[in-house]
Amino acid sequence: MLRAPTHAQVRDAAEAQQAVALGATALKLKVGHAALPVELARVAAVRAAVGPAIALRLDANGALADADAWLDAFGPLDVAWWEQPTPPGAPLPRGPAPIAVDEAIRGPADVAAAAASGAAVVVLKPAFLGGLLATWTLAHQAAGLGLRVCVTHAFETAVGRAGAAHLAAALALPGLAGGLLPPGPAPLDARWLTLPTCPATGPAMIMLPDPVVSARLAAADQIAVDAP
Ligand SMILES: [Mg+2]
Repeated sequence: MLRAPTHAQVRDAAEAQQAVALGATALKLKVGHAALPVELARVAAVRAAVGPAIALRLDANGALADADAWLDAFGPLDVAWWEQPTPPGAPLPRGPAPIAVDEAIRGPADVAAAAASGAAVVVLKPAFLGGLLATWTLAHQAAGLGLRVCVTHAFETAVGRAGAAHLAAALALPGLAGGLLPPGPAPLDARWLTLPTCPATGPAMIMLPDPVVSARLAAADQIAVDAP
């Protein structure tokens, strides 16, 4: 049985507690779209609700105008990583937490640039990178440069998510992380995605859900996959 360890995207302390109750050990929050004190209070409430053992990953989607100040302010909350704190092409902050790059990764040169700029993690979305095989190649390039790899998705429906999930499970890279919705509407185990051992292009298609349900679930970065 293939398993891809997951993390859950949450918005507040209540959702965080629900995810942890389901088994999540890592949570992701989108931040940077409100003022720093507001966002700091929200994430601090999550940290207080889930305790120190849960990893908190913050994704700013390039929205931080003063990233150094944000990273310093969030330092006491023990952030596992900051994802794309500054826009693609802008310098990465040198803060107390590891930096992940997402929107800045579109090909091999971007992976090399991420490693050279001090990033610790690359977020790889097959739909933006030329598909599963291209993403596989980029993942191994990144791992060879000492980067952690996070396989995730954009707005794919079940077919795309199933492929990304299998890619994440197949990439037996140290430090593998990812961001995947389950390929069907089955209840979410917040710690692991369990995948059929058959290829995603074969009998696994049997597990594809109702297209209406699939479309409703197709939100970017809602769930992620964590390192074994
Ligand atoms: Mg992201």
